[in-house]
Amino acid sequence: MWIELNGWMAKLRFSACHLIPYHQKCGRLHGHTYAVSVKIHGARSDEFIIDFELLKELISEICGSLDHHVIIARNDPRIKIRTEGDGVIVDIGEKNYRFPADDVVFVPTDSTSAESLSEYVASRIASRMGPNVNRIEVRIDEGIGQGAGCMLDLEAA
Ligand SMILES: [Zn+2]
Repeated sequence: MWIELNGWMAKLRFSACHLIPYHQKCGRLHGHTYAVSVKIHGARSDEFIIDFELLKELISEICGSLDHHVIIARNDPRIKIRTEGDGVIVDIGEKNYRFPADDVVFVPTDSTSAESLSEYVASRIASRMGPNVNRIEVRIDEGIGQGAGCMLDLEAA
């Protein structure tokens, strides 16, 4: 069995900006309102697989950590990241962006596509699940009607 949260309906959203290096349109810095929908598969422990309130708190915490930030993929081979004083400089070919360090969140992925962000969020959720949970599905929507997702199977404890 599973439980499910819809990011739009349950208000599990964040607004952030990113870019996809060298993409004709998405290569320019731009923003989205993202919604995080999740499906948690597993056996019940007591009454629930996981209490909705606890799951919502966890997803809200993840959304909050990304909200109103510039998201940069730390492991993107197309990007060079330097720090200079309290600034972060991101070099992408001929382009150089300088951001205050406080404005940036680095994610441990090689892209900030919705696909990569879904994997990042799934791994953050996985680290907080009990042994009764065996699969996590995460979908990240970039605006309404457009999203990407992943499925993460967890090892039996
Ligand atoms: Zn985008």
